[in-house]
Formats: sequence, C-alpha cells, structure tokens
Amino acid sequence: RAARIDGKGFAAGVRARVADHVAELTSVQGITPGLAVVLVGEDPASEVYVRNKARQTREVGMTGFEHKLAAETTQAELLTLLARLNADPAVHGILVQLPLPRHIDTEAVLAAIDPAKDVDGFHVSNVGLLATGQKALVPCTPLGCLMMLRDRLGSLKGLNAVVVGRSNIVGRPMAQLLLRDDCTVTVAHRHSRDLEAICRGADILVVAVGRPRMIPGDWIKPGATVIDVGINRIEAGDGRTRLVGDVDFDDAARVAGAITPVPGGVGPMTIACLLSNTLTACCRAHGLPEPEGLTA
Ligand code: NAD
Repeated sequence: RAARIDGKGFAAGVRARVADHVAELTSVQGITPGLAVVLVGEDPASEVYVRNKARQTREVGMTGFEHKLAAETTQAELLTLLARLNADPAVHGILVQLPLPRHIDTEAVLAAIDPAKDVDGFHVSNVGLLATGQKALVPCTPLGCLMMLRDRLGSLKGLNAVVVGRSNIVGRPMAQLLLRDDCTVTVAHRHSRDLEAICRGADILVVAVGRPRMIPGDWIKPGATVIDVGINRIEAGDGRTRLVGDVDFDDAARVAGAITPVPGGVGPMTIACLLSNTLTACCRAHGLPEPEGLTA
C-alpha cells in the first residue's frame, strides 16, 4: 500500500523553518517581513482563505496588512492601493485574492503588482522568468507540490512526470518546475486523447483538474508518486458533504508508491509556500541570502 504523503505535517515544518528565519531576520537585521493581502468584495470562501492567511502570517512572526475593500471598489481605486503597497518598504509581499468582482480586469490588476513583491507568482514577468529557468517568485500551490516531490524522491532527474490540468495557477507552472528539475514532462488537459495511457506512463502524476475522483487506481503506474491538487466538495449522503480529490484515493493507494490525501495533502502547503515566498521576497529586497530549501 502507498505511503501517505503528510502535507499537513510537511506544511507545519515549512512554517517552523520560515518562523526561525523570520526571528533571525528580525533580531539580527531589524527587518520584519510584511505581507499585504487585498480582498475585494464578500466572497465567503475568499474570506476564509484571507483569514487563514492573516493568522498564519502572524504565527510565523511576519507583519500582516489586510485590506478589505467593498465589492463596488473601482479598478482605479484598487490600482491606487497597489501603487501604495508597491512603494511601501514595510510590505515585501502583495497578494490580491482571486476571483475579483467582474467589473475589474484581473490581468491589469496582476500586472500592476511589483514583480519583486508578487508572492503569488502570477505576474507575467515572474511567469516568464520561471519559463526561461531564471530566478522567479513561483506560484504557491505548485511550489508546495515540488517541495513534497523533492522530499519524497530526492532527485527528479529523468523521471516521467505527467501534469493533468494546464491552469495558470497550478498546471502550467507545475510543468515548468518539473522541467527545471529535469523531468520529462507531459501536460494533459481536457482535449487530451487517451488520458489513461498518458497517466500510466507517469512516475510522477500531478492532477489539478477539479473533477471528483476522475483518476482511478488502474490509471496509475505501480510505485508512482501521486500528487492530488483537486479539492472537490461532494455529497456524502445524510445531507452532509465532504472533500475529495481528483484521484480516487483508496483505489490509487493500492497501486501508487506514495500519494497525497485530500484534505491534508497539497492544501496546507499552499499557504506555507505563500509565507516562504514572502520571506524569499524580503531577503531579495534586502540583498540577503535566500532561505535554503524554501524556494524552487
Ligand atoms: P482550472 O479549472 O483553472 O483548470 C482545470 C484544468 O483541468 C484545465 O486546464 C482543463 O483543461 C483541465 N481539465 C478539465 N477537465 C478535464 C478532463 N476531463 N480531463 C483532463 N483535463 C481536464 O482549475 P485549477 O484552478 O487549476 O484547479 C484545479 C483543482 O485544484 C480544483 O479542484 C481546485 O479547487 C484545486 N486547487 C487546489 C489548490 C490547493 O491549494 N490545494 C490550489 C488551487 C487549486
């Protein structure tokens, strides 16, 4: 039976290492990393994420700046706030919680964030730096997946990696990171033919689709390492709901070498990587050495 990759425990370890670095930065250099989170409107899921981010930011000893703006906020007002945060030396990371209300142009907003403070790694300049193998700020979810893969497998060199899903926030940057670690990378998506055969060739299978349990155990190569990014809420009977991934966990665990559960796998790593990106951005801003093992 597959080893269960404990993302929750791994994330706690990453946060502890970030907290150690922050304590040292603060005591030795007098610098406290600061993360600004901007939320526009009242999406309940986004409010939960933002609250969790703010709490964990404080817990690792960083300064959190929360900006909650009304749903009617204009794009110009949002851009004015971002310009202020870009110029604020106490702010090392800026995150605009997505999705934004429809009257705001998301691409224009992401483009307005200083790439050096873009801790989500969504600015085209960071996307380009990643794609050309240069030093970038890397999107948090794929960064968390990469950390767990490296921890599990050591070198990823020469392995066949299959990424299912090609979104800008998960699939595409995941593929770039795996390429950078010398995997042979296949990116599959909704138009891919014979997904089953593609998945069967994967030593590393990362699934980020958003379809509950779409990958059955017999699509998985024996011994493969499976990273399930999907978070899907399904009916559990008796009127309750529960969270499942994009991979049929019980079925896949009979075949895989190791697999992340949902919940408790990739999810907790995402905020931990947001904090490590903020620390990285802070170190770079001050010309200090970057924290080892916490970047791509
Ligand atoms: P998305 O909707 O932006 O992208 C989904 C991708 O899956 C697309 O590229 C699409 O081509 C592909 N796809 C759709 N149907 C397919 C099919 N039948 N076969 C193969 N490919 C198919 O989604 P996303 O933002 O990348 O998120 C994917 C999942 O990951 C969601 O469940 C989301 O909730 C979850 N997620 C989790 C975290 C986390 O922190 N753990 C972060 C981001 C997203």
